[in-house]
Amino acid sequence: MPWVRFDDQFPIHRKVDGLSDAAYRLHTSAIFWSARNLTDGFLPRGDLDGVTARVRTPARFAAECVKRGTWHDSREPCTSQKCPAPVDGGYPQGWVIHDYWDYQPSKEQVLREREAAARRQKKWRDARNGVSNATNNALLTLPRPAPKGSGTGKPPRARAANGRPSPSGSAAKPRTRSAADRSVAEAIAESTPEGEP
Ligand SMILES: [Zn+2]
Repeated sequence: MPWVRFDDQFPIHRKVDGLSDAAYRLHTSAIFWSARNLTDGFLPRGDLDGVTARVRTPARFAAECVKRGTWHDSREPCTSQKCPAPVDGGYPQGWVIHDYWDYQPSKEQVLREREAAARRQKKWRDARNGVSNATNNALLTLPRPAPKGSGTGKPPRARAANGRPSPSGSAAKPRTRSAADRSVAEAIAESTPEGEP
């Protein structure tokens, strides 16, 4: 998405100020259209209707733009350095926004900037991934604390006098809760093999 540039003199420029409202709208819309489509100021005849739906009979106002010198026939030679030069013996039929490169970047410039931006983004992403990989590696090499519940920390289970699980103790609860519901400590305690001190 290239930016479209106008200077603060644009509406009072001699060639632009003299345009009718519809021609002014067509001219400015054409600059936006060309920037979007990267045509370097070239407006193919077949695309004129698509430049703006707001101007009816655009060919009539295209003729007005030519008369005022803001546009010219695409096959007419133009000596301005800021006007896109005809390629391969000339453009197909249509118009050229005269001095388009005076303010708007060329297609080549836009593509070059897009490539540079993509390269910068990739470099930034690679650098960020490098940092997070380094952090992960540092975390993996840290000494790990002994897991809870190992050793002597296991609480004795509540048992009835006959040695069977009591009907009302925590040990007697039916195991219907999911593992996710159990507290971490309880899960660790239950996973410790029976008989461990
Ligand atoms: Zn020109």
